[in-house]
Parts: sequence; structure tokens; C-alpha cells
Amino acid sequence: MSDEVDWRQRLSNMEIPISVATNSELSYCLDRLIEVGRLTREDGLRLMAEPSLIGLTSLANMVKKSRFDEKIFYNRNLHVNTTNICVLACRFCAFRKGPKHSEAYEMSPVKFIDRIAPLSTQIDEVHSVGGLHPEWKINHYAELFSMIKREFPHIHIKSLTAIEIIHISKRSGISIRETLKILSGAGLDSIPGGGAEILVDSIRDRICRGKETSDEYLQVHATAHQLGIPTNCTMLFGTIESNYDRIEHLIRLRRQQDQTGGFQCFVPYPFLPDKSRLPEAQLATSSEVIRMISVSRLMLDNIPHIKAYRMNLGDKLSSLCLTAGADDIDGTVGHEEIMHEAGSTTDLDTPESELIRLIVNTGSTPIRRNSTYNEFTEIHSLESTGILLPIQVGEI
Ligand code: SF4
Repeated sequence: MSDEVDWRQRLSNMEIPISVATNSELSYCLDRLIEVGRLTREDGLRLMAEPSLIGLTSLANMVKKSRFDEKIFYNRNLHVNTTNICVLACRFCAFRKGPKHSEAYEMSPVKFIDRIAPLSTQIDEVHSVGGLHPEWKINHYAELFSMIKREFPHIHIKSLTAIEIIHISKRSGISIRETLKILSGAGLDSIPGGGAEILVDSIRDRICRGKETSDEYLQVHATAHQLGIPTNCTMLFGTIESNYDRIEHLIRLRRQQDQTGGFQCFVPYPFLPDKSRLPEAQLATSSEVIRMISVSRLMLDNIPHIKAYRMNLGDKLSSLCLTAGADDIDGTVGHEEIMHEAGSTTDLDTPESELIRLIVNTGSTPIRRNSTYNEFTEIHSLESTGILLPIQVGEI
């Protein structure tokens, strides 16, 4: 993995695109990243208003390349949700159902295993989140994770948002630390970033009243990092937040990362409005999504990976984000409900070869990664046949 000095050193030696070189604001940010390594809140706010989107994405792409050259990462994963029953009713959420709803479901551990089984040899990770179930306690999840590990020891379990973890700890009458220790002992390997929404409590109070505060979200991640459990972090934008709120969100994550260092990847994604209940949402245009990816890359100097989450963005917009600062395009996924309930039309049957084609078409090199970004396989695809030729590579 590139270290702090290396990426800045490489950045200083890179050819500067004309759209950056001729733009005083972007040139200033480039110099500041090379010399100091960190942009300020004011820099971030100015970048959110930067008129030249081409210049902004070019600068973000330079920074991405200074860390990872032409590499774009993905993994082979499967999404399985545990339940859509939830005691909360976040206003942006199209996924949750009340316990008596005709489409409410809860998945038993056995059913969960059945869902993985047909794909178990084709995936390296199961990604699992769900609603805040009114009855399930820690034993339910510990049993689930133990069963997955028993049946499929090679599969990495990335599961439970910070909000779910707080809910489980309260239902079980134990601390967050104890909850994480038990779950980790049962097989939990890492934690996804969901539940962050916007880390500004006045906005949270309007879009997801009753949900834990920004501090509580960060505290769960901090505890996980202290226990050696890696996590991701996210941002839901395009509801009712301002640019100031978005930058505040990035700064809070950056500050947390300075202290505990366990965030692997940042995943910003826009609110998808269909079927859900936030009529006052401003929504985010495609160029705003691309801008958010670029600004995230530039502001989050201490979180290595920026993900273009194709289940939310769709393949076309995701591929544009790969030239605007993102270095990761998530995975094969196979099944997804949360974004699709909210209106996503991203194809769920995309084979790995198609994902590779999408990456190659951006002029990048596809690298299949494991869930903790420490095992990498460079993938070459034979154009005519679609046959994949994996080549194991060492450190990136
Ligand atoms: S976002 Fe999560 S916590 Fe909020 S209603 Fe939906 S499932 Fe429940």
C-alpha cells in the first residue's frame, strides 16, 4: 500500500492537466496537497462550488493515480439482507417494513446459508445488513455468523451497520465493546459504513429522527477500530443537507480516521427518491455525484479507498466516477434490495467479465481484491472469449 509520503511525492512528479494548471484554485489545492497533504474546510467548500468540473475531476484523478496508478479494485461478493423489519422509520428509507406488513420478512440462519450455498465458490465476501429487528438479540447474529463460518470458512463476513450494532447491544443489555467482541468471536470480519447518512445532527433529526447521533455512529466505528475490526464509512447526500454539511461530514470522518485509523473505504451515494418519503429532498444530479466523488478523494487524504457504489449509481455513472477520483467499484453483488427498493435499476446479474470490461473501458487495470485490501489479483480478460486470466500480485 502506498504510504503518505509516497503518494504526495508521486503527485509532485505527475504531469499537470491543463484544466488544473490554468485554474488558480485547483493549482492552489494541488500545491497544498503536495506540501501539506491536507485541504481545509474552506478549500472543501470552494471545491464544492468550483465552476470547472473537468478541472476538479482531473485533479481528483491525479490524486487517485498518485496512490493507485491505473488500478481499479473490485471484489466478488453477495448481498444478503437479514430482515426488512425495522423499529425505526427513516424518511429516506424505502426498504424497511413494519412487522405486520405483507412484504415483511426475517431470514433464519438456515435460510441465509441456503442463499449463499449456490454461489459460495464464486464469492469471497457476504455483505449483510438489515432493519432493526424488534426481538433479535446478539445470540441470533452470533449463531448466524458461526454457521456461515462453519459452512464457508473462506467467506469474509462484512455485516451490521453501526446503527444495528447499537440496537443489538441495547436489546442484549451489553456494551458496544462487548457486542463487537462476541460478534467478532463468532465470525464477523468487518463492518460496512451504512447508517452514517449525514453526520450533522440537525439534519439527522429531520431525515431519520430517532436514529443514533453522529457521535454515536463514530463511536461504534472507533470501538471497532480499537478492537482491530476494519470498517467502511458512507455518506447519503441529496436529501436536505447543504454543501457545508457535506464538508462537515467529510471532516468528521477524517478526524475520526486520524484518531483510530480503521476506515478502509469511503462510499458516498445519493438519495434515490422513488417510492420513499422525502418530498423536500433536493436530489443530486449526475454531475453533483461526480463532484462529490472528486471532493471526497481530495478531502479524505487519510482514507485510502473511494468507492463508486454501482448498486446505487448504476454502471454508467459509476464508470465515469472511476475517472473522477474513485478507485473501487464494489463487487459482483448478485442480489441487492436496499437501493433497488428505492428505485435503482442496476443489473444484478452482471458477470465478473462485464465488470472487468467496464473497468478496462475507462483505461484502467482491473484488480480483484479481498475485503481487507491486502490480497490482490490482476485480471486480464481475453476480449474474444471473455475468459478471465487471473494473475496474483503482491502489495499494491
Ligand atoms: S435506514 Fe435502516 S434504520 Fe432507518 S428505517 Fe431503514 S432499515 Fe430502519
